[in-house]
Amino acid sequence: MNKEWVGGHNTAISWQASHVEHHITGREQGRVIGGELLDRVASADGIGWGALLCAPFVGSFLGVVVRRLPEGRPIGWVRSRCECCGVVLRVRDLVPLYSWFAGGRRCRYCGHRLGWFYPAIELSAVAVALIALAADGGQRTWLDCLLGWWLLALGWIDIRRWLLPDALTLPLVIAGLTATAVVEPEQLSDRALGAALGYLSLRMVSLLYRVLRGREGLGHGDAKLLSASGAWVGAIALPQVVLGAAVSALSAAACLRLAGVRLGAHSALPFGPFLALATWLIWLLGPFFT
Ligand SMILES: [Zn+2]
Repeated sequence: MNKEWVGGHNTAISWQASHVEHHITGREQGRVIGGELLDRVASADGIGWGALLCAPFVGSFLGVVVRRLPEGRPIGWVRSRCECCGVVLRVRDLVPLYSWFAGGRRCRYCGHRLGWFYPAIELSAVAVALIALAADGGQRTWLDCLLGWWLLALGWIDIRRWLLPDALTLPLVIAGLTATAVVEPEQLSDRALGAALGYLSLRMVSLLYRVLRGREGLGHGDAKLLSASGAWVGAIALPQVVLGAAVSALSAAACLRLAGVRLGAHSALPFGPFLALATWLIWLLGPFFT
């Protein structure tokens, strides 16, 4: 894995933090790193700020994708309607975040109470852009955001529907290989190998699980998502994506147990959101171990 590509920007933070004072406390070091990250956001160039300003609108679009794609409903060229009264929504009803808050969280036409879904996904898209800016400082912000937003939609659909649609996973494989071919062509063979190994390894785990437990443990979508992950972060980082996803899934299960949710041997969590999270973090920060 080329450190300069995925992790080079963070080396500067850790270097600076470790050289400010040799014996500063962890809290002070955290403050130095936090200040450095905020500086990066504040000093972002026009491209970085462009991504941040587009983020709420992208989030709004992702909301449409998450709701309509699993149902096979068209995504483009169809006017948005209130899902209760069916009224065609106007431009002022579709301004990200603003319309939801200004309308008192209700449809302006029928008074139907609107859920948290749209503001939540719009704010998540803004968070993706902010994290990308803080991690990258504007160098590859659009690429970071593209991957982050794409994975956000995939993870959200998997949480809602237990589904990772081919219409999102397969183009993400192609997007990863295309981005590599343009940005870092010498890494193309590693990314292509990553895409192949990502798919084959999870398919084998899935088959093994079915033989041993007599039921489906991992879906085909998870294998396709790991293939996309390999296309973006490469074959060498792939085991760490799986490890990161497994650790975060186990942590989530432990949190659910602590919150009083009963989980048994037949309980399951969608794996896609954890694969998506691990992929994006390794893309942004570089592999955890080299
Ligand atoms: Zn309505």
